[in-house]
Amino acid sequence: MRAAEIIEADLTWTGEEFEAGVQVEIGRDGRIARVGSGLAGRGRAGRRLRGKALLPGFVNVHSHAFQRGLRGEGETFARARAGSFWTWRQSMYVLVERMDETTMHALSLQAFSEMRAAGITAVGEFHYLRHDDPAGGYGFDEVVLHAAAEAGIRIALLCAYYKTGGVCEPLAAAQTRFATPAIDEFWARFDRLAGAIDPATQSLGIAPHSIRAVPPEDLAMLAEEARRRGLVVHMHVEEQPAEIEACLKAYGRTPMAIVNDIGPGPRFTAVHCTHTSDEDMRRFVAGGGRVCACPLTEGNLGDGIPLARRNVAALCLGTDSNSRLCYFEEMRWLEYAQRLATGTRGVIVDERGRCAAALLRAATVNGAVSLGIDAGRIAPGMHADMVAIDLDAPELRGWTRETLAETIVFGAGNACIAGTCVGGRWGKTAKGGLP
Ligand SMILES: [Zn+2]
Repeated sequence: MRAAEIIEADLTWTGEEFEAGVQVEIGRDGRIARVGSGLAGRGRAGRRLRGKALLPGFVNVHSHAFQRGLRGEGETFARARAGSFWTWRQSMYVLVERMDETTMHALSLQAFSEMRAAGITAVGEFHYLRHDDPAGGYGFDEVVLHAAAEAGIRIALLCAYYKTGGVCEPLAAAQTRFATPAIDEFWARFDRLAGAIDPATQSLGIAPHSIRAVPPEDLAMLAEEARRRGLVVHMHVEEQPAEIEACLKAYGRTPMAIVNDIGPGPRFTAVHCTHTSDEDMRRFVAGGGRVCACPLTEGNLGDGIPLARRNVAALCLGTDSNSRLCYFEEMRWLEYAQRLATGTRGVIVDERGRCAAALLRAATVNGAVSLGIDAGRIAPGMHADMVAIDLDAPELRGWTRETLAETIVFGAGNACIAGTCVGGRWGKTAKGGLP
């Protein structure tokens, strides 16, 4: 256990704005003990982070780390034959079928390390490629957890349940690597894993993959048990029109209507919702449900744009396929996609009409709530997960205290990130370590 520490950057984001003179005391347990002025002194030394601003570490709610292996792939299209989500999925399945432990580890470590360099201190890993061999061993569960520990990123491992290859269809060959044959076995494996994680930086949730992979009765049972255990539940919902059509045909209801009928509540996060109707979305959000948008992936795959104007308080962000890891881009494209779709500006805004503050909230506190972790705010009791911004970075030049949040969210790239800290520990990379 290390000594407690007090740090003070030039400016600190206190949830609503950047403030000067804010000292943050990090306790021996890696959590924030106190935040305020005058904490140093009386024999207690403080460490000054000059030329830096502190933000809460970014929370990436939705990732499939192994898909980092598809970066740069599948971007050439046969003449007169457009690609789609479904043609992309075929390339993903090719990657899945050749996955072994070494590749899974290397890709996960690469993705998680890039995330930290992008200011992401916690990731919700939606983990559906679970079997390291077609016989059904769960070796990849530990591989992903180890890679996260090596990269020094906080992880909520969202263990996927995957039963059918499409609505009422058998599993295809590649999908056998995802298979969870029965609910009892799913929870037995979950319980074993719960005993193996490091509770300081790791937690578990569940992820019924989608209505394509999980029949409604299984979804209801999983959600009920998760509620009893106080676990977060994440699910892909209505990413593509074909999913809704197949679901309507088989069950006479949309996927989101099925989710709404189980009473999802505040621990349920629906990922994408790019084709969700206004009425279904209204019901879901009114019941406390959360919505995770993945703007860069949704753009890359041609998924569509989620309804967002009335759901700002429920929104969080994810990097999904990890074809690009820059959280500022995810933030600004959450808003830009809405601007392009509506012909207006300022769709994702807070109570004071501020866009950058609302996008930062989606990227931090809302994400932490979705993953069920004590993070996303620089406040007592939270994990000391933070990102330091280099205020001398050329791309931020011209900032003032009043415009810094907007300058960062709309103008920054990863180059302005000076370091990230998880549980009070700064990264060891050249960019991760602070002087
Ligand atoms: Zn996904």
